Amino acid sequence: MAYQVLARKYRPQRFADVAGQDHVTRTLLNALAQNRIAHGYIFSGHRGIGKTTIARILAQALNCRTAAGSAERPAPEPCGRCDSCVEIRQGNSVDVIEIDAATNRGIDEIRELRDAARYSPARDRYKIYILDEAHQITEAAFNALLKTLEEPPAHVIFMMATTEPENIPQTIRSRCQHFSFHAVRFDDILTQLKSIAEKENVSAEEAALALLAEAGDGSMRDALSIMDQAIASAPSDENNHPVLSAAQIRELMGAVPNAVFERLLEAVAAGQSAELVQQINGLVNAGHSPLSLARQLVRYLRNALMAKLGGEQTELLEISLDERARAARTALLFTEEELTRNLQIVLRTFDDLNYRQEQRFHLELGLLKLIHAQRLLPIEELLSSLAGTSSAPRAPAAAPRATSAAAPRSPQAAFQSPPPSLSPFGAGGGAASSSHGQARAAVLASPEAAPAVPPGEGNGASHEPASLAETNLAASGAEAGAVSVEALRSGIIAALAAQGLDSASNCLGSAAWSFDGSNLRIEVPGKGKKMIGLTVNAAAEKIIRQELQRLGGPARFLVVPGEAGTGEAEQAPLLAGSAQPASGGVQEAALNNPLVQRAREIFKAEVRSVLDLRGDRMRRKEEPRP
Ligand SMILES: [Zn+2]
Repeated sequence: MAYQVLARKYRPQRFADVAGQDHVTRTLLNALAQNRIAHGYIFSGHRGIGKTTIARILAQALNCRTAAGSAERPAPEPCGRCDSCVEIRQGNSVDVIEIDAATNRGIDEIRELRDAARYSPARDRYKIYILDEAHQITEAAFNALLKTLEEPPAHVIFMMATTEPENIPQTIRSRCQHFSFHAVRFDDILTQLKSIAEKENVSAEEAALALLAEAGDGSMRDALSIMDQAIASAPSDENNHPVLSAAQIRELMGAVPNAVFERLLEAVAAGQSAELVQQINGLVNAGHSPLSLARQLVRYLRNALMAKLGGEQTELLEISLDERARAARTALLFTEEELTRNLQIVLRTFDDLNYRQEQRFHLELGLLKLIHAQRLLPIEELLSSLAGTSSAPRAPAAAPRATSAAAPRSPQAAFQSPPPSLSPFGAGGGAASSSHGQARAAVLASPEAAPAVPPGEGNGASHEPASLAETNLAASGAEAGAVSVEALRSGIIAALAAQGLDSASNCLGSAAWSFDGSNLRIEVPGKGKKMIGLTVNAAAEKIIRQELQRLGGPARFLVVPGEAGTGEAEQAPLLAGSAQPASGGVQEAALNNPLVQRAREIFKAEVRSVLDLRGDRMRRKEEPRP
């Protein structure tokens, strides 16, 4: 006898043998028992989960020549032995016609079918049409079929199997009974594989069958197809029986053992970038494609996340017991948030790989991102640190992290130290009150805060409301002229650039520098005072002060709009979309917000522009101005 693939050889012949579709088989058996037969059925669901199998069993049951309830056929299940049952199973029954709608989808074929349907069955009770891939039928052809379904001859039954029920016209669907099939559960597939291995005299490791079941991904047919392949390539034991091992099946599928992914993620959790890249290097050199590695890592991470959410025993995991334990171990390395983020990053990497040239580099980049993303600070931590400057330093958020000791988490480390005063005004005010006016550091982040400078203090500043930055260091006796303007200028610009404050550096680079009495005066052309305030911000001012002190420059400096300095309106940053450029009040509020200031400190960031994304109504409420 010619070789028959497993999926066909072990195709169920009774409703009771169909795995994982109990909700369908139970209903159909009831309908058969009560003789409530519809003229149209739609069986929908993924490929390889038993749609056409059930259609055939139903056809057998309907046309079985052994009467239901007789001694040979006590239940509505088909007898499996009569002429009709045998013919249907072999696919040569005259009255059960299987049509592949993917190739016979046109109006002519359907008209032919419709005309033939008018004639009574040749021998059996019903004339049954099984339309596979029914969603492929054209609209015109469906319309031709509709007539028959509207007034069906008593002997005609249509069964449509489809993976896309939504593509079957509503007019057709509403005249059919619709059964939605479930993906077959991992355990159901595994049980079936075990029983088949036994019948086929295949000695198979449990892990090997679990791998096959997992690869089936809810489709019995897919699992059986891979099993066919595996048996064909398997070595034989002394009794000439094929032996299936997990290693062989992994090789067949080009899969990497999950232990590899476990190690990869351990390296991620420990922040070991070099180790991570080396592991990827080894895998790619061994011939694994980056795309397939990324796909497997996605699955692995998904399982780890499910283990985190539902525990090791969760039914969300469709894997063997060993793999459950592994997923649970990996889940312990990360928080739920981190696992979610990692999954997202790897999914995006997988997407990218599909249309990229240098796949290897993108895989490396994607996995290194996993390490870098760990250093991101959850917003809750930022907020809680703001709220509790007085509270004890928190424990690191990733408490369950087994290997976190080795992980370099610099922002968190920075975070542990008690944060300095959040508000520059607080610092300035405190110093001023405690120093009897002798040593005072007042940093003005915006022109509106000018009143913080006592009137009469500083000749230029009091007459110059546009002064944006002002400092009065401890009276050091440094006088203008001790150092050249040019030396101050180049020193400060270089220091700003070195600290990454490029916009401040550029802004001051284009300014006119001069001594104004005992002050250093910097006139920025073409910028309004608000823009200057944004560019030469608190961080920049701090650097300028340090440089002035280091170079022996004047104690005070002013940054003011130059001759060409214009109004604010045209200086507002150009913003895309509907976001409104923030008005002064909002901008000031944002820059003065302790959270913003803390974030700037932590990320050593400049705030370039503030967008007011609240609705107009909200903003008007906020700023009741005429
Ligand atoms: Zn029969």
